[in-house]
Amino acid sequence: MASHPVGGAWTTPVTAFNSDAPPKSHSRRKTDTSDAPHKPRSQLNRRADSMPAILEGLGEVPPVPPRRPSKTTPAAPPTGSQSIAAKILMDAMTDTPFMITADRFQRLCRRPSLNTNALLQELVLIAKASARSPVSKYQVGAVALGKSGAVYLGTNLEFSSRSLTETVHAEQFAIANARGRGETEIVSMALSAPPCGCCRQFLNELGTDVQILTPGSEPQLLSALLPDAFGPKDRGLVGGLLTPRGPVVPYMNSSAVMVQAVEVAQASYAPYTRARSGVGIETHDGRIYTGGYIENAAFNPSLSPFHVALVSLVANGRAYTDIKQVVLVEAGTSLILHASSTRSLLTKIAPEASFHVVDFPSLGADELNSGAKAGS
Ligand SMILES: [Zn+2]
Repeated sequence: MASHPVGGAWTTPVTAFNSDAPPKSHSRRKTDTSDAPHKPRSQLNRRADSMPAILEGLGEVPPVPPRRPSKTTPAAPPTGSQSIAAKILMDAMTDTPFMITADRFQRLCRRPSLNTNALLQELVLIAKASARSPVSKYQVGAVALGKSGAVYLGTNLEFSSRSLTETVHAEQFAIANARGRGETEIVSMALSAPPCGCCRQFLNELGTDVQILTPGSEPQLLSALLPDAFGPKDRGLVGGLLTPRGPVVPYMNSSAVMVQAVEVAQASYAPYTRARSGVGIETHDGRIYTGGYIENAAFNPSLSPFHVALVSLVANGRAYTDIKQVVLVEAGTSLILHASSTRSLLTKIAPEASFHVVDFPSLGADELNSGAKAGS
């Protein structure tokens, strides 16, 4: 279990983005539970031997190898049901798990017998088969088609022995996936089932009217599925969660995972609380997966930065037990904080991992959160 109360999580604050001075961080010491999965020592690379140094402070972390494109692809549909189209689509995601680039998707749509809707429906099945739903055993698939022409897959994530409020819905997964890859607008979404009320509210934060495709139904606009909606415009905002934020100020630090956590925190979407935050996950093999907070006008369908980072982890086919350390960057003076909930969930899904919280007061500065502008 966590050894420090949240109130003790904040240490020397980081006062500037352009500083190589490593801030002191809070870390959760390793815990051991009888049912925790243990990796054989032989499976850990040599960098894992530097863990004591890492626990002393992020500034001591040696450089992490450059990120390499993952060769892991989403889980395939059950053997025997995989169509020719599904196999083609799986091949198209070899270098970009849970995503098909615009060029590739455009070429696929030109193939005889493969139209856009048919491909989206096949992708929904592929996404659905990747669900991690130990609670409901109910698999959901979602595919978002971006204005760029690229498509992004999403599936549902559930966490046993945790609150249902920590569930990530497939639609949320797909949107977080798209946002993390730089998409700026979603034009349509194909789903394995009609979207729940929570997801309709979450999608409404896009600020644009998205076309929704569900099996057996005519395409519908989100505005028809969520009439009299409450969203960004009601909070005086123009744009939505995919609207490009203000420029990301480069941050220098010897810890690659911290640098990337700071970058995604700056680009996170928190127009209502101004509590920008980001998470970097480093796995035992030195890869880094990040997530920036995604807020909602109605608050409750918001996605924490840790959940968004887990989306990236899962999209790359990784297991929770692959996690070596998690770095959360947020301003300790923010109206809301993610340290406690992140620590709690991490303890459940990766009890061997270490946890660091870094105070970054600049993330609370309004001038760096100017992506969403006040409307009339
Ligand atoms: Zn939903």
